[in-house]
Amino acid sequence: MDKKIVEILRGSRPHWVGDGFPVRSVFSYHDRARELSPFLLLDYAAPHEFTATSRRRGVGAHPHKGFETVTLVYQGELEHRDSSGGGGLIGPGQVQWMTAGRGIVHEEYHSPAFGEAGGTLEMIQLWVNLRARDKGAEPGYQTLTEIPEVGPVRVVAGEYQGVRGPAQTFTRINLWELRGPVELRVPEGDTAAVLVLSGEWQGARAGDLVLLSFSGDELRVDAGPEFRGLFLGGEPIDEPVVGHGPFVMNTREEIATAFAEMG
Ligand code: MN
Repeated sequence: MDKKIVEILRGSRPHWVGDGFPVRSVFSYHDRARELSPFLLLDYAAPHEFTATSRRRGVGAHPHKGFETVTLVYQGELEHRDSSGGGGLIGPGQVQWMTAGRGIVHEEYHSPAFGEAGGTLEMIQLWVNLRARDKGAEPGYQTLTEIPEVGPVRVVAGEYQGVRGPAQTFTRINLWELRGPVELRVPEGDTAAVLVLSGEWQGARAGDLVLLSFSGDELRVDAGPEFRGLFLGGEPIDEPVVGHGPFVMNTREEIATAFAEMG
């Protein structure tokens, strides 16, 4: 049975995160916690031209706790560094999967080489929730540079036609980059959504998210050849979501504790 389109989320007007990331907030757990679980939030930075500078653009040291941040770069180059000892450069087609778990402090900047040359930046930051029992996980960092391609699909996480993506995840997640029309089979009952990055599908354009029904196990993305998108799927986490700023936990008490310890 086909998954059905529930709604198209258009995202906010662009706003700046630090001085490096002009993003549209496509969705957030503040009003979509149930529909998009285990995904908490997605910011999309559409292609933006930066002039050359020797100044560092981005966001300085800040904490996170209770979830994971996934950064996908399409154009430009970023440099991350965190208190788990993780960090490094990620360029076009590469992904950084950071587990904040019980707590991490990190910085997110344009790489020095990209800053000094200037150029176009296009990227996504996705927040992925952790179950209560995993929120105390050891912080960690995965740089994903070898991402398998199966026809029109790049498998960042999960499994597509028997090919596993490199990301280690705490719950079952399918994160697939799509190029051109494609037919997908996904587990019945999973959360499912398609972010459009270029081209158009079902009236959704770059930066819009097509939210799909939990029911159904087939999805035909009957888009044109110029279509690029990101499929987000996974097993929902059926737990309360309470977050504030850089922390996402299960209760208000845990948020107060996080601010007392790290905020
Ligand atoms: Mn951050």
